[in-house]
Amino acid sequence: MIEKRFSCVDGAELYDFMFISPKLMLVFSHLLMFCEKENLPYPQITSIIRHKDSFSKSNTHQTGRAMDIRTRDYYTEEQIQKIVYFLEDFDNTYKVGAISRKTGLPRIVVYHIGSQWHLHIQTRH
Ligand SMILES: [Zn+2]
Repeated sequence: MIEKRFSCVDGAELYDFMFISPKLMLVFSHLLMFCEKENLPYPQITSIIRHKDSFSKSNTHQTGRAMDIRTRDYYTEEQIQKIVYFLEDFDNTYKVGAISRKTGLPRIVVYHIGSQWHLHIQTRH
């Protein structure tokens, strides 16, 4: 039996995976294992590589260090919190989360609204 592990929707292309940072690949791989273990729906990636735009606060998408995961009409608030805690806990061990320009502190995941609510997963250089 083979299962679908994730999907790319909206602006995300499978092709973008050729340009992502190994740290992001590591986080994503662990996220897939977590979703499987917890019986969560597989992640739907809505954005990976993005070119310079007027609204992004950082260049993490431009440099292949970030991806956005759909939450709206997909995960419950409880499932979103589970994923956020998992990622923060993961970062306590692996130290791969992007460093916030504002605070100087690592932040691996941001649950925020762009065009829709989503999880922005980001890794450092
Ligand atoms: Zn993002």
